[in-house]
Amino acid sequence: MNPSELPFPTSPVTPTTLEGTAALQFQCRKGIACWNACCSNIDISLTPYDIVRLKQHLELSSSEFLNRYTVPYEMEKDGIAGVKLRPVDGGTACRFMTDAGCGVYADRPTACRYYPVALLSMRKQDESIDRQYYAIVREDHCLGHQEPRTQTIDEYRAEQGLPEYDDLAHGWRQLILKKKSSGPTVGKPSKRSLELFFMTCYDIDRFRSFVASDSFSGIYDLPADELHAMLLDDVTLLQFGFRFLRQVLFGEMTIPMRAESVEQRRARLAEQRARIEREAAERLARDDDEGGAYVDV
Ligand code: SF4
Ligand code: SF4
Repeated sequence: MNPSELPFPTSPVTPTTLEGTAALQFQCRKGIACWNACCSNIDISLTPYDIVRLKQHLELSSSEFLNRYTVPYEMEKDGIAGVKLRPVDGGTACRFMTDAGCGVYADRPTACRYYPVALLSMRKQDESIDRQYYAIVREDHCLGHQEPRTQTIDEYRAEQGLPEYDDLAHGWRQLILKKKSSGPTVGKPSKRSLELFFMTCYDIDRFRSFVASDSFSGIYDLPADELHAMLLDDVTLLQFGFRFLRQVLFGEMTIPMRAESVEQRRARLAEQRARIEREAAERLARDDDEGGAYVDV
């Protein structure tokens, strides 16, 4: 699809996709008449790095942060999960909104930094890399578009600290695009793989406990210094998590596995398969017997 032809039906997103060099006339500033209007009615998806920054800011574990401040949602039918900020109870405003502005400003999420620009991450069918395009969101309540300041989208992104956020979300976006582009041929992901995706991407402290466990080191053969560095740093662990998911979900084998565990898993799977076949044969034989008795009567 030609990016400039993307449809945006009934959406405040201007139906033109832009490069980073496109001009953006916009400024958000304290004292503007619409101050906080955007934070009063939120629909904000979080990236894994957003969660790391926010849970560090709030000095919470990732599990506590997820429970208190987010709701999960399904990104696509039968597909992988995403996480959104949960608004205040019974309302639509962000829990971090204060009269003075954003209460977590230094660590505000990617979507808040981008506004009023929308990031469109796309991968063409014949390409293995994704490309970034942008679109402008124009909502009636936002008066920032009337301010006289103009810069390029790239300059705006730099001002908002977005290159770092985009770099650290890249592995996650690639996983999502890969899953989407593999389409129904891969079939419905198993409950186990969806749970693994959720824990690794969003619940980094639980993923840390898993990586530190005997069951992980019984399967994966990582150098001790690499393992140690990951356990000490959320961002290093997150980047490893994306690599781990590419191996588990898509068979991209980059993490060495212990030979004995590969062999044990193979033997376990063979035993499992044999048991299922044996039980199916027994069931069939039983059904035949019962069927014969019924006919005789
Ligand atoms: S996180 Fe901050 S900028 Fe984002 S919606 Fe909440 S208050 Fe607004
Ligand atoms: S100018 Fe737009 S982004 Fe800034 S406070 Fe107003 S509604 Fe929010």
